[in-house]
Amino acid sequence: MFRFPLAGLIVAVALALSSCAGTPTGQSPQAAVDAAVQAARPDRVILISIDGFRPDYLGKGQTPVLDGLVATGAFGPMRPSFPSVTFPNHYTLVTGLHPDHHGVVANRFTDARLGVFTMASKESGFWDQGEPIWVTAEKAGIRTGTLFWPGSEVEIRGVRPSHWAPFDQGMPGDARVDRVLSWLDLPADQRPRLETLYFDIVDTAGHRNGPDAPETRAAVASVDASIGRLIEGLKARGLYDRTMLVVVSDHGMAATSPDRVIWLDDILDPAALKIGYGGAVLTADPTPGREAEVQQKLIGRHPHMECWNKADVPARLVYGSNPRVGRIVCLVETGWLTATRDRPVTRAGGAHGYDNQAPEMAALFVAHGPGVAAGRRLSDLDSVDVQPFLARMLGISAPVGDGRPEDTLAVTRP
Ligand SMILES: [Zn+2]
Repeated sequence: MFRFPLAGLIVAVALALSSCAGTPTGQSPQAAVDAAVQAARPDRVILISIDGFRPDYLGKGQTPVLDGLVATGAFGPMRPSFPSVTFPNHYTLVTGLHPDHHGVVANRFTDARLGVFTMASKESGFWDQGEPIWVTAEKAGIRTGTLFWPGSEVEIRGVRPSHWAPFDQGMPGDARVDRVLSWLDLPADQRPRLETLYFDIVDTAGHRNGPDAPETRAAVASVDASIGRLIEGLKARGLYDRTMLVVVSDHGMAATSPDRVIWLDDILDPAALKIGYGGAVLTADPTPGREAEVQQKLIGRHPHMECWNKADVPARLVYGSNPRVGRIVCLVETGWLTATRDRPVTRAGGAHGYDNQAPEMAALFVAHGPGVAAGRRLSDLDSVDVQPFLARMLGISAPVGDGRPEDTLAVTRP
């Protein structure tokens, strides 16, 4: 497959930073989970997503608040699921299922019965192959509040969060924080014990300007300050010491360039393809009648890209069994983009969607709260591990998905 020069380095750093993350000798994973639950359970959990935040944005002068949480909490780089794009991975974080299993297989896809899914789709049928943690919590009698999360505006399996709002990209970060804090001022019977908070500006800046641009650093600093505002608000209410903050991202960001383009026109007539999703990852169906041409010209290895029939996608990507996945899936080399000459790539920027094991795609995981060991470093985290962790912190049993509860045990191990 493609070579990732940084991969060895990341692994080495992760290993060097990690403390033992296995289960204690002689203890079953479930017993270890139970013991960890005894050790610490917060009064509430606030799950914060910073879209497109790379772990290596930390420690560079823009993130005093997050650096403080890392120093006094648990931290790990986290593998996103494939494809490393926003809606699939946000839903993975809260369902514990890979996109192939929760059904939100891309930001845009087609369901045979429901039609085309877009990021504005509100039909529950698109979402109900998985159960998000707020639905599990509400069913267990725990109030939840979501200030934005993909899926949180939809009634899923008959349940909505107690408090939510339609996504408003223009709402400033501090206003989002204040709304989440305001729900904590509600009477006890309405007050959420699980809240989500979502920031999109780091991803937007990363796409427009690239991961290393000053504009992206400015967005990182702005979100960091908003999280600082949240912490101050919790402290002012006397809630901070009993709150678990879980700060995650959905994927990283890789620099792109007009010099790194895979022209589909050079491989086949683009009219032979119905592209479902293109750019940093490509999913497509052959145009009816042109299947043989597509098989002959597209399937296989190309410079900077490899394409498979969905049944042949490598198992490590966990992608292709869902009927919603296009018949052809192409993995694009990190930093490259697919395009057609009628819609060329004109400027440098950033993209994601690539191999979920590429270091540039690594996501963020930080946990800070009661019982969390200061300075704990985690390795081998996957985004599917977050849902069982949230369930454990809330003290509820949740549907068993693709995550491993033992991967996050070290967060609260003394
Ligand atoms: Zn995203």
